Amino acid sequence: MIPYGRQDISDEDIAAVVAVLKSDFLTQGPAVPAFEAAVAARVGAAHAVAVNSATSALHVACMALGLGPGDWLWTVPTTFVASANCGLYCGASVDFVDIDPVTWTMCPKALASKLDQAKVEGRLPKVIVPVHLCGQSADMAEIARLARAYGVRVIEDASHSIGADHEGRPVGDCRYSDICVFSFHPVKIITTAEGGLATTQDPVLARKMELARSHGITRDPAEMTQAPDGPWYYQQVSLGYNYRMTEMQAALGLSQMSRLDAFVARRRTLAARYNRLLGNLPLVRPSPPADVASAWHLYVVRVPADRHRTVFDTLRADGIGVNLHYIPVHTQPHYQSMGFRPGQFPQAEAYYAEAISIPLYAGLSDADQDRVVAALERALT
Ligand SMILES: *Cc1c(COP(=O)(O)O)cnc(C)c1O
Repeated sequence: MIPYGRQDISDEDIAAVVAVLKSDFLTQGPAVPAFEAAVAARVGAAHAVAVNSATSALHVACMALGLGPGDWLWTVPTTFVASANCGLYCGASVDFVDIDPVTWTMCPKALASKLDQAKVEGRLPKVIVPVHLCGQSADMAEIARLARAYGVRVIEDASHSIGADHEGRPVGDCRYSDICVFSFHPVKIITTAEGGLATTQDPVLARKMELARSHGITRDPAEMTQAPDGPWYYQQVSLGYNYRMTEMQAALGLSQMSRLDAFVARRRTLAARYNRLLGNLPLVRPSPPADVASAWHLYVVRVPADRHRTVFDTLRADGIGVNLHYIPVHTQPHYQSMGFRPGQFPQAEAYYAEAISIPLYAGLSDADQDRVVAALERALT
């Protein structure tokens, strides 16, 4: 079975992890700050806070922005559940903005009209979470313009998108957002096994996220309510969690960062090949806007809804490990129990009825990619 995605671990990656295992620190040592510095430098952010998953990064990002009971967080239905759940973790309410039918990311028109209505009803969101689906930045300039106009904070869910560019600049520099979140799950662009990271240009937000990741505990006298009792002293100044990344994970991440450009280049080559090889098939290919250089976490095709299931099953039977990203979050039972109903976000639902993620990862060979294309041809004709 050719999987839809998979990690690429080199001997250097393995050596980096083993070196940590032989060192003094398995956690809270030098590797995490080194990894944070490498990501911050690569994406052009002043601050980076590494945590044990992107889910945790979304949570600490929401906490740093002060999201709480009585607030609203909006995201898109076409995402992993974590983009929405982070709002619920904070006791906020969650709602959705439909996707654009062409780019499949948050639709600025739908956002504009929903903001307009929410303002009238006095229930503007505190935070919106656009998702850079498949590695392709959402329309951040327009989303940021609307967010500023309505006084809304922005967290980019860039779980798919480390290494992507938008307007010639890296995703993660937060020029259109407060915080940007990356995932390092093995299917993503680079991996730390489990792991995530939040970037920001704001030192106050960065410090709040650091506190939230580690129990709300500080050892900095300047942050304490009194002078330290002694050298052992720390204070818990807010409520935090243990969301720390281990040194082994950070060492793997740092080693993987040195291969990021090569990973993304290979993904772009494979995506361009798919674009060429699938050109004559009855399917819709991804169409990133001209100002977006996708990191190509996923290559999603849309096939006619009446043949979707057959094509999917035929590909799986043919040894092609296709998948579907994503089931609209508002149709999940947990969200249905909060009152959401099918039919509320027609573009996300239409996408779900047609989308198939076909294999794409740095280690995919041209020969295996040709197998995928041949299988798709057979399934569709
Ligand atoms: C993978 C993913 C997450 C969660 O990432 P973890 O690191 O597994 O917690 C969140 N949002 C999106 C869009 C994702 O793809």
